[in-house]
Amino acid sequence: MNISPGQHCISCGSSLLYYDRKSMNIVCNMCNRPINQLEILQSQQEYQRNIRKATDYIQTNNNEAAKQILRPLLNQYPKKVEIYQLMLLCLTENGKNLLVNTPAAVLDECAGYWTVLQSLPGGIDSKLRLYEAKRVAAMMDKLKEIKTKITILCVFIIIFAIGGEIAGGINWFVAAWCILIVILLKSNWMKHWITLGKSMRADSKNPFDIRF
Ligand SMILES: [Zn+2]
Repeated sequence: MNISPGQHCISCGSSLLYYDRKSMNIVCNMCNRPINQLEILQSQQEYQRNIRKATDYIQTNNNEAAKQILRPLLNQYPKKVEIYQLMLLCLTENGKNLLVNTPAAVLDECAGYWTVLQSLPGGIDSKLRLYEAKRVAAMMDKLKEIKTKITILCVFIIIFAIGGEIAGGINWFVAAWCILIVILLKSNWMKHWITLGKSMRADSKNPFDIRF
């Protein structure tokens, strides 16, 4: 019995199949499940149908519907590169959303798929590399933006303090320090600056680990 290229186990998605002479069945080398040809053919057709549907949904920006198709496939085929790639396309709105201001849960999910793809042959393709470069650049811009905001604020506070000292009255330098600290704490700029700077220097090889 021949095992054609592209065939995979319908339980775990592995393509490591072999013909077992004893049981006269094709068996999965990973989970030992016996698979007959009809089952393989049906599951391949079903899989291709689902991938086509999910791709169409992503192209039309219907990402929720695509996710609903892809999530069960992830469990069914944990080694299939294209499912993880499509999940990342879903979460990044077909690569258009660089996820700069995104909840941590979404970034965690993306980081998880990226890590899996790094471990699979051909997982990180040119499209994903391009997205990675764009995201890193966007996060660098964000860091610059935060730095600029803090610098402008400090300049204003210094002018305010010097002006106040010249005018006399209360201790304007102390007042200026208090205002500066309150604004920095309220705005979270300082926290964002430190976290973002740290995650950029961490050199983690996962673009979704860069966050603030
Ligand atoms: Zn299997």
